[in-house]
Amino acid sequence: MTTSRPGFFDPSFPAWESYDPSREITVAKVAFVDGPDGLFDYKVPERLLERLRPGMRVLAPLGIKNRSVTAYCVELTQQESEVVAELEKPTSLSAEEEPKESGEGLLFPELASPAPEQRKKTKKKTKTFRLKELLDVVDKKPILSAKGLELGVWLSKRYLAPLGQTLDGIVPAGVRDSIGTRMTTVYELAPDIDKKLNRVDEVKNKRAYDLLTHKQRYVIDEMRKLTEPPTLSELGRVAKCSSAPITALKNLGFLRVKRVRRVSDFYTELLETEKTAAPTEPHILNEEQQKALDAILGALRNEESSAFLLHGATGSGKTEVYIRAIEEVVSYGKQAIVLVPEISLTPQTVQRFRARLGSVAVLHSRLTDLERKAEWEKIATGKAKVVVGARSAIFAPVPRLGIVVIDEEHETSFKQDVTPRYHARVVARWRTQRENAPLVLGSATPSLESWRNVQLKNYKLLTLAHRVRNLPQPPVYVVDMRARAASGFSTGALCRRLCRDIETALDADPTNQIVLLLNRRGFSTHIQCPSCGETIQCPNCDVALTHHITQQIAICHYCDFQIPAPKSCPYCGFVGIKYGGFGTQKLEQELCVQFPNAPILRMDSDTTQAKDAHEKCLSAFRRGEYRILLGTQMIAKGLDFPNVVLVGIINADVALHLPDYRAAERTFGLILQASGRAGRGDKEGKVVVQSYYPDHPAIVAAVKGDYIGFANSELAARRALGFPPFVSAIRFVARGPDEQDVAEFARTLGDALREAVREINDKHGYDPGALAASAPEPEEPGAARDSSDRNVVSFRPAKRVRPPLVARILGPAPAPFAKLRGNFRFHLQILGAPGALLRDAAELVCNAKLKAPRHVQWIVDVDPLESL
Ligand code: ADP
Ligand code: ZN
Repeated sequence: MTTSRPGFFDPSFPAWESYDPSREITVAKVAFVDGPDGLFDYKVPERLLERLRPGMRVLAPLGIKNRSVTAYCVELTQQESEVVAELEKPTSLSAEEEPKESGEGLLFPELASPAPEQRKKTKKKTKTFRLKELLDVVDKKPILSAKGLELGVWLSKRYLAPLGQTLDGIVPAGVRDSIGTRMTTVYELAPDIDKKLNRVDEVKNKRAYDLLTHKQRYVIDEMRKLTEPPTLSELGRVAKCSSAPITALKNLGFLRVKRVRRVSDFYTELLETEKTAAPTEPHILNEEQQKALDAILGALRNEESSAFLLHGATGSGKTEVYIRAIEEVVSYGKQAIVLVPEISLTPQTVQRFRARLGSVAVLHSRLTDLERKAEWEKIATGKAKVVVGARSAIFAPVPRLGIVVIDEEHETSFKQDVTPRYHARVVARWRTQRENAPLVLGSATPSLESWRNVQLKNYKLLTLAHRVRNLPQPPVYVVDMRARAASGFSTGALCRRLCRDIETALDADPTNQIVLLLNRRGFSTHIQCPSCGETIQCPNCDVALTHHITQQIAICHYCDFQIPAPKSCPYCGFVGIKYGGFGTQKLEQELCVQFPNAPILRMDSDTTQAKDAHEKCLSAFRRGEYRILLGTQMIAKGLDFPNVVLVGIINADVALHLPDYRAAERTFGLILQASGRAGRGDKEGKVVVQSYYPDHPAIVAAVKGDYIGFANSELAARRALGFPPFVSAIRFVARGPDEQDVAEFARTLGDALREAVREINDKHGYDPGALAASAPEPEEPGAARDSSDRNVVSFRPAKRVRPPLVARILGPAPAPFAKLRGNFRFHLQILGAPGALLRDAAELVCNAKLKAPRHVQWIVDVDPLESL
């Protein structure tokens, strides 16, 4: 086994150096947060030996100038000498350059081993270097546990993300910085307290304990109950006394003080106030719920890491099943992680878990760093039994993981859109498999990935086919908007049918409420000159500006570029410039005119900027202060309003226009999720969908509420076209201010990918030449069909023998948003199977150190959900 690459090259070591046991040193393998990727070796100097542990951050000298750079210490090893001999050094790397190559770690050899091809090109040079010394240790205690480090190493490899950046992404900012903590004096009982208390005073002939005042005894009794040493004021509060008895006890030697670093008192108080949820009684489960629960409990009791897909409409009682399973986990002294989409992480959701499960830690993006740190501590120490949070809560450092639940598992927000671009479901599967814990995925409209996993028997399907209390699923009606457009009758956003239904609902009962969904914010979404035909575009982005009426501006939703709303065409001066397309502001205005007596609440990212605004709006609607709630997708999901009798989806089709093979899945999901909002209480609900494509299979299936029918036909289409989930996908996006440069580099990426696929197949013993004459086999999804297309890596597999990695490359081509924030964008996707080899190919490209032109940046997205 070779050692990992030293963090520097010091050619000036004495050649006579030979092994001397007294020279044995400790070597830290570190990963830079913001520096070259890979693991690097540094000598741990004597003065840091005591303090440094894996999982802490260090400062390491990097490069010829030895600038001090933050890195994570991933591993500590012993080594005979600080001189590293026989280092395999790529010839391209001169001693003057910063090392860019990944080294090989002892613990994680797979992490950083150079690809075989690269190794071939490496000339062996027997050269020797002295390891540089670490400069300092940043953290007082490890901020990543051994499990956390292992997770980070896996994650970095799985998503082709630099290790240091990945580790940094696992630990929330508040935890990384010792923010909110300060040195505090705390009190603890003297270690020999009982001996001291029983000692008999010879003069008074009494036990020391009996000589204490009533108050002092009470302080000691209370101290024994505490799990953590209190501060003076905290102790005063629990023992209901002033500082006098405490100080007296200290002076008598019964109490000792010590200095510790603690989260500030403010946060201790905040955490106390949270525990106020009134306990609620569990329901008696219905037959389906019981069956689902039994299956999960079976896995729990056998410590099986089974994965379950709990398929049930909104209101079918999924959450009740989660809670029961978690109760069992908690009774074993283990912890549970519950992931919900950020948007449904409301106090109601949290209260529901708290009321039944007690100590619940919450992690979401609206927490301050301080709050997050406090929650993190609660979790790491095992004090919180249940963690409820958004995506990143999957990294919660629970000591003993008993179960992971992902509610609304189809939600795309479970995939992170910055490095590391992980999907929480994939991370959850990895964690639960390692810790022998079950994974429960719940949804009314499962992702096709999960449905495919059910078909492959990787997941067990549990179905809740009926709504609790047998509430009927609300009927869905489609209004064909084409007829209306042809008639030219109305110019409003609402069709007559929907207007009538709103009116009927409002009149029928003064408590009735209505939800209208329109996925565009602003007033007009389109400003165009009827004279010259020009539309008002953002100069930085390839998108139209949206008119916002309140500020009378035209604004870009991507870069915030804005101009005063033009009254005449800026191109030809024509005065009758047309504002078209519907945004939420315009719909609000239309509703105000049509239904002047109904209070209307608009919710979109413009109205919910302020902290807690989102929550305040929803509470007000729940209290019945508004009759109509209109908004973007932020109102579509997971909200439970018993008085909503009508849900209208204004522009159900929008997603269908997008050049994305997931468009049908998203549209279907949106309609079904939104329809889950109607009729949740005792009232009957209904859903009206306005569509220009009423015959589209996604719309037809949504109207029938037929998930299984939709999933099966959509999967058949994906299989035929060779799209995920039948193959894996990896997307590359390059961007930069010069279009030619970006296009050129995207082509370079494509070439490198093609080469990498060949290399991987070659490495796995595939010889395309030997098979050229044989007839092609029936094709696997994802196998290329058309070898004449030069963008396709094509293999014509012979009978019985096929390339180990079958892959095709789409693109490079301009991305659908060809320009954003002044950068031109090109993308390409490689699709293929098996996923592990596909990632190996992409990793070769990432490690190839391709020289991008100046200002061109690129990213790699494994299992992308985004295609724009
Ligand atoms: P989901 O998570 O599938 O949307 P919930 O678990 O939130 O469904 O259940 C919907 C509603 O029905 C909740 O108000 C819940 O308290 C109630 N509920 C769930 N299970 C039962 C049951 N077995 N009996 C009566 N009410 C139930
Ligand atoms: Zn813009």
